[in-house]
Amino acid sequence: MADEKFDSIVVGAGPAGVSAALTMAQAGLNVALLERGEYAGAKNVQGAVLYSKMLEDVVPEFWKDAPLERAIVEERLWVLTEDSGIQVGYKSAKYNSVPANCYTIIRVEFDKWFAKKAEAAGVTLITGVTVDDVLKKDGDIIGVKTTEGDRLLADVVIACDGANSIISQKAGLHREWKPEEVALGVKEVLFLPREKIEDRFNLEGDQGSTTEMLGDITQGMLGYAFLYTNKESLALGVGCAVDDFQRTRIKPYELLEEIKRHPMIRRLIAGSKTLEYSAHLIPEGGYNSMPPLYTGGMLLAGDAAQMINPTHREGSNLAMASGKLAAETVIEAKKRNNYSARSLGLYRKKLEESFVLKDMDDHKDIEEKVRQNRDIMTIYPKLACESAHEYFIVDGLPKRDHQRRIIRRIRRQRGIFQMIKDFMSLRHAIG
Ligand SMILES: Cc1cc2nc3c(=O)[nH]c(=O)nc-3n(C[C@H](O)[C@H](O)[C@H](O)COP(=O)(O)OP(=O)(O)OC[C@H]3O[C@@H](n4cnc5c(N)ncnc54)[C@H](O)[C@@H]3O)c2cc1C
Repeated sequence: MADEKFDSIVVGAGPAGVSAALTMAQAGLNVALLERGEYAGAKNVQGAVLYSKMLEDVVPEFWKDAPLERAIVEERLWVLTEDSGIQVGYKSAKYNSVPANCYTIIRVEFDKWFAKKAEAAGVTLITGVTVDDVLKKDGDIIGVKTTEGDRLLADVVIACDGANSIISQKAGLHREWKPEEVALGVKEVLFLPREKIEDRFNLEGDQGSTTEMLGDITQGMLGYAFLYTNKESLALGVGCAVDDFQRTRIKPYELLEEIKRHPMIRRLIAGSKTLEYSAHLIPEGGYNSMPPLYTGGMLLAGDAAQMINPTHREGSNLAMASGKLAAETVIEAKKRNNYSARSLGLYRKKLEESFVLKDMDDHKDIEEKVRQNRDIMTIYPKLACESAHEYFIVDGLPKRDHQRRIIRRIRRQRGIFQMIKDFMSLRHAIG
């Protein structure tokens, strides 16, 4: 591989990298896609919910041969205390469309399939190589170096190497993330026969559901747990801010074990068998922590650029969309034969015009607001569950007494004005 030259080198064969490589190859560019895993997907962890729109933009009619698990027809949000839970959900026959709004996937299978699409379009996929540095000339990036010492040259390098992007650090685009800028997600895949999944989650055929869980389930830490249905397995996981894990000394796998014992979850996973345990960082610093997205000869996409919207459980779609926009920027730069920072600056403009930077911008303060007011994660779930309990209990007291008790409880624990203030501050944080 000594000093080979490509139009573009993409580092990392996750959703961002494959989208970028595939888009450029379709436009006739000579592209190398470098992946440190033995095969694409070997090292990747996700819930995993995949959004159709962004994939369809890269692989039209993907649903005809993509390894999809279940089409999501129901999205549920649970606010939990130690022994109770408020359940909100939305299920709709409108979700039965093809393609569905989103699907569950198994990343190992999906990434392999996705990378094959890129190869079929002409991308040179090289697996089992770890990039550990960038090559520079006159301050611009002109290629990469692997741990084996191979040097590969390109007009543009696209860094899609995920949460802990080594190469963007080597390029001087960002420092190591601070503990409060990343979350640690842990996940188990639990085997359960498909009939049991369909019965327990009220699903038919290949329909699926997602459940996001907030409140006591994360023991006061900033984050949430999730439970997704695959064809013959469940994905149960939790992600919390790394500084919270450090502060509380809670061990991620112990937290997951605790979650399995919660009365709302225990029955859903009863009799299942753990097939796999994995852990991965999630960059959650958001818009305020984003590194510069380009420099001369280099662009950053997906997790490498902190493109995650945890409020909406979105990451893979931002990765695919940004990978595609990065590729389109390179295609245009090639027409001008200009790969300077100024020329590649078009990438930021494209991101600003798309949902990517609009959503990142709109949600930029939400985590900080919750950090400043951690009661939101503890007092409110408790208040909500206690109020529901009071509302539903039949104990011989008149309803008006129960209503008074609810009001008294809110006054005592938070106060009506403080409650309005809390909700307003969150509303402003969402934009
Ligand atoms: C527990 C968990 C649950 C999640 N759930 C969801 C969800 O349900 N829906 C959703 O949309 N998002 C979810 N996400 C986020 C989502 O996984 C990421 O946003 C998405 O994978 C980002 O894609 P990417 O291509 O930028 O990075 P990645 O998928 O991380 O891919 C990076 C690739 O680069 C390779 N690589 C890294 N370093 C090097 C190197 N030096 N040299 C060569 N190759 C390298 C890696 O092996 C990997 O293949 C979840 C994340 C976690 C951790």
